[in-house]
Amino acid sequence: MPENNPPHAWYALRRTLPTWSFEENLAELIQVLPRYRIDELIVKVDTEEFTHGQPPLQWIRNYQPRLHRLRREMEQLGIRYSLNPWITLGHNDRGRDATRQLSGLRPMVGHDGTRCTCCACPLCEVWRAHVEAVWTLYAATAPSVIWIEDDIRTFNHSPVRYGCFCTEHLRRFSERVGAAVDREELVAAILQPGTPHPWRSEWLDLQAAIMVETAGFLARVVHRTAPDTRIGLMSSGPRTHCLEGRQWDRFAAALADGQMLYSRPPLGNYSEGSLRGLYYSHDSIKITRHCLPAGTIEQTEVENVPFTRYSKSTRFTFLQLAVSFAYGSHGVTMNLYDHCGTPMEDEPHYGRMLAERKPFLEALASRAQQSGPFRGVSLLFDQQASYHRHLPPGADYGTLVADGATVMQLLETHGLPTTYDAEPVAAATGQQLRACTDAEITTLLDGGLLLDGTAAAVLHERGFGAQIGLQAINPAVHLDTLGAFAAEEFFNPDFGGRPGAFMTLTLPDLGGRPSLCVAELQPGARPISRIVDPDAQPSHVAMYAFENDRGGRVAVHLLDLDSAFGTAFNHPFRNTQLHHVVDWLWRGRTPLRVTGDGVYPLAFRRDGDRHSLLGLFNLSLDSWPDVEMHLSDSRQLDHVEQLDVAGRWGPCQQLLVTTADDRHVLRIGTPVAFDQPLFITVNWA
Ligand SMILES: [Zn+2]
Repeated sequence: MPENNPPHAWYALRRTLPTWSFEENLAELIQVLPRYRIDELIVKVDTEEFTHGQPPLQWIRNYQPRLHRLRREMEQLGIRYSLNPWITLGHNDRGRDATRQLSGLRPMVGHDGTRCTCCACPLCEVWRAHVEAVWTLYAATAPSVIWIEDDIRTFNHSPVRYGCFCTEHLRRFSERVGAAVDREELVAAILQPGTPHPWRSEWLDLQAAIMVETAGFLARVVHRTAPDTRIGLMSSGPRTHCLEGRQWDRFAAALADGQMLYSRPPLGNYSEGSLRGLYYSHDSIKITRHCLPAGTIEQTEVENVPFTRYSKSTRFTFLQLAVSFAYGSHGVTMNLYDHCGTPMEDEPHYGRMLAERKPFLEALASRAQQSGPFRGVSLLFDQQASYHRHLPPGADYGTLVADGATVMQLLETHGLPTTYDAEPVAAATGQQLRACTDAEITTLLDGGLLLDGTAAAVLHERGFGAQIGLQAINPAVHLDTLGAFAAEEFFNPDFGGRPGAFMTLTLPDLGGRPSLCVAELQPGARPISRIVDPDAQPSHVAMYAFENDRGGRVAVHLLDLDSAFGTAFNHPFRNTQLHHVVDWLWRGRTPLRVTGDGVYPLAFRRDGDRHSLLGLFNLSLDSWPDVEMHLSDSRQLDHVEQLDVAGRWGPCQQLLVTTADDRHVLRIGTPVAFDQPLFITVNWA
């Protein structure tokens, strides 16, 4: 199991063996898994293209002896056997109609009245009886872990997008609020513009409680037959789960059912687009971990759809493995081969890469899996974000997703790592702070706080204007409704700017325009940048800094970040601006800032008792010829080690260290290419 001591880079392969190619696929697994250095086989059942929808009971009965055989064969090889049924409720219909096979099945009903034919309502008794019978057969094969897919949720059951709003869900809701409520009425209340209608929280509470109960039901079914099998949870990212109000603690406790819980955070990037997709991946690991109980075993999801190098290169696949282990996960689950029975050796490159790179990943994991906080600007996440969000008129149901991903990507893009642990400096954008109590906001205002215009407007509305340097602020409006504007001038030399340093307002990309909050600052607030017109004449304030009477520091960029952030928001001037602002918020004690002759870093610092692990992924195709890591720490630096390609920790070769006033600058002269991330251990005296 990945909880083995000492820690190492646990490889789990997810593989489907269709009935018609079972023998051939099994023979190949026996032959190549040891060569690929796989530790665990997770067998997927009734999967993807050849799924029957809700798997027929007789089909599973017929398949079960094959699972027993797989477990025995894997035991002979010293490889763990786990199981991954492809569905619980169902991901999608794809033309299947389960109501023909399961009489009385009540499928999901969407917020707009769309009905599934295959994906089931979790309250449906027919589904429950069926899943109990099927999962008892699964459990009888005694898998090490049985993985529950992320279809254990109430969104994305194609063609249903959000729900279930079936008769039984509506009956329970009506009972709860003491009035007969139909779907249209309820959805209108959930999406009411402005202050949330009280029914929104009632609905989210009800839906969350039903899912907690469903999770507990599944776990009990498994444990009745296989008491030692652990439950693994695939999830879809906590911000997205705000759509359904997931209550993570209760949900996790119900699923674990007294055992250790396993978690499979999604890394996205199912097909290779840009290296920058890894910002999402690393964040998904951190934020999912933040929501789950301490001690949860993580095996990230490295997935390739549709399973050839046309979709994803081996190098990108390697980077997803490296991100997983660098950020402290215990293992990876790899869905790299199709579910149609095609031999793995038809695409042998993945297996070769896995074997070749394992020593490097083992050495990385041996240090990254040690406990200790990730350091950086603190990001906020509240599982009740959707309870508090104010919606505009005509909002789509999907706008109930929580904010926060944008500011994560902005900071990480500029070499300013983020964390979900508490730190003296935090960042909040959009409507994130609506979920905070006044006391929580006051704590944030005692430290350093980075805000966008929308977040500043929320704080002003809540009565905190004086603490963030605002006399007045308007809600964000489309920039072009305010006049004709050209650029943001980053003019203030105190923060690294200079007059005439212009950054585009064609944001977030060509063809787009951002929204701005027009604000009136208090005396003492220091403008950092301003909006200028086509004659370069100053107009509205863009960014400012303010020190409040509690001694806290606030920096606000008055654009609405969600409307502004994209490729065009990034610029060397922006990089300078953010580094100065964040270091000012931190009073010069930023735990890690990364600079150098390159762009798109993904960097981290994780502190152990006597050492800090530092990492840098280069998410650009251009190498960084050198890197500067700026660390703040009151301890003396003893020695620095670097991980080489072969997986050996040794002295850092091209290193120059300068220290002044508890600030250490590590200049590392080894070029960092996109396919070979840099890992450094700083040992403190
Ligand atoms: Zn329902």
